[in-house]
Amino acid sequence: MAFGRNIKRCSFCGKEADEKRLLVEGPGNIFICNQCIEICQGIMSEKSLDVPSIEMNDVPTPKEFKEHLDQYVIGQDYAKKALSVAVYNHYKRMSLGRKTSKDGVKIEKSNVLLIGPTGSGKTLLARTLAEKLKVPFAIADATTLTEAGYVGEDVENVLLKLINAADGNIQAAERGIIFIDEIDKIARKSENTSITRDVSGEGVQQALLKIIEGTLASVPPQGGRKHPNQEMIQIDTTNILFIMGGAFVGLDKIIEQRTSAHSMGFGSNVGSMDEEQKMDLLNECTSDDLVKFGIIPELIGRMPITVALKELTKEDLKKILTEPKYAITKQFKASFAIDDLDIDFTDDALDEIADIAIKQKTGARGLRAIVEKMLMDLMYEAPSVKGQKKLTITKEIVKTKSIPNAETLLLEQQTA
Ligand code: ADP
Repeated sequence: MAFGRNIKRCSFCGKEADEKRLLVEGPGNIFICNQCIEICQGIMSEKSLDVPSIEMNDVPTPKEFKEHLDQYVIGQDYAKKALSVAVYNHYKRMSLGRKTSKDGVKIEKSNVLLIGPTGSGKTLLARTLAEKLKVPFAIADATTLTEAGYVGEDVENVLLKLINAADGNIQAAERGIIFIDEIDKIARKSENTSITRDVSGEGVQQALLKIIEGTLASVPPQGGRKHPNQEMIQIDTTNILFIMGGAFVGLDKIIEQRTSAHSMGFGSNVGSMDEEQKMDLLNECTSDDLVKFGIIPELIGRMPITVALKELTKEDLKKILTEPKYAITKQFKASFAIDDLDIDFTDDALDEIADIAIKQKTGARGLRAIVEKMLMDLMYEAPSVKGQKKLTITKEIVKTKSIPNAETLLLEQQTA
């Protein structure tokens, strides 16, 4: 095949090639022009609108979704339920396809907002859910997004992630799910201190609102910035389900001020509340509270389900270290087993690790780094000490944060 700018004509529309009309030559002296190619693409994509329909019989029930989440995520029961229901409902809507229900009712989507501190499992919930899903799923970070024209990623790139997750199948992507993290970081602020980056966040919120509401978006196929003359992928976002997450630091105070102002307060102030109480308070969050926080009302209107996650307690963190399917201690145990080293952790060693994580204020997010750093010497030495070995990780080891005498300890334990 060759491009030509000669006087040959397109075999489809019969028009002559010129500067704007490029021809692709096929065997047997036939040609097609770029405009006809575009029309053909349109026809083909219309045809492939028949993506396999969703049969509700094949879809896990909300209970089954939650049971799946239970295997990987500790606590956060209410969030698990709410997400399981939201995803199940998403399937219901998808099973109707472009139709309405028997009575002519069209089910609208219910996007979810997850409010919870760093490291409480928002992303983990979304990821774990994705494993169980039969629709494409993508995760994006709101802080990397900017309004078109500013330094950063265009909001449309979020859609590109979903398209990639759907292996380029636009129709499949159009019924996918997107998790957008750190949505609180694009809250409206009073000052706008930069001209190259939209710090106010409001522009990003507006841009996000457009795709959440449902629009025919044009996405640059390679990601990055839109360029004039670049071919764009068209995607209809009407049916894409959005799950949004954020820590919303300070939102609890806003809610508390409101509730105590109406003399139906929670009886104590945020400072003296335990984690359950704080979570209950956050579950009282209204649209007005979110507006005060800096989220634009239109966007709040598109997130009818608000769910609070609680800050993980020491007991939760200990469970996270040991219980989930891929718990950190299980992972290290499996990894050391390859070096013929059998490790275990005492209960107070787990206590100490949880304490350190709490002090770091990173929730469960810090756990892996703490354990990884502490076991560094051991990972270094274990492969050189041949034979079967055993080591118990004690509170003292955790406190030292390293095992400088790892080699000696292992040699002492070495058996044939
Ligand atoms: P967030 O998105 O709320 O900031 P993440 O979901 O990214 O937090 O959590 C970071 C890591 O901490 C996860 O990959 C997981 O290993 C662990 N983790 C957090 N919360 C939980 C939880 N509730 N149960 C089990 N592991 C958790």
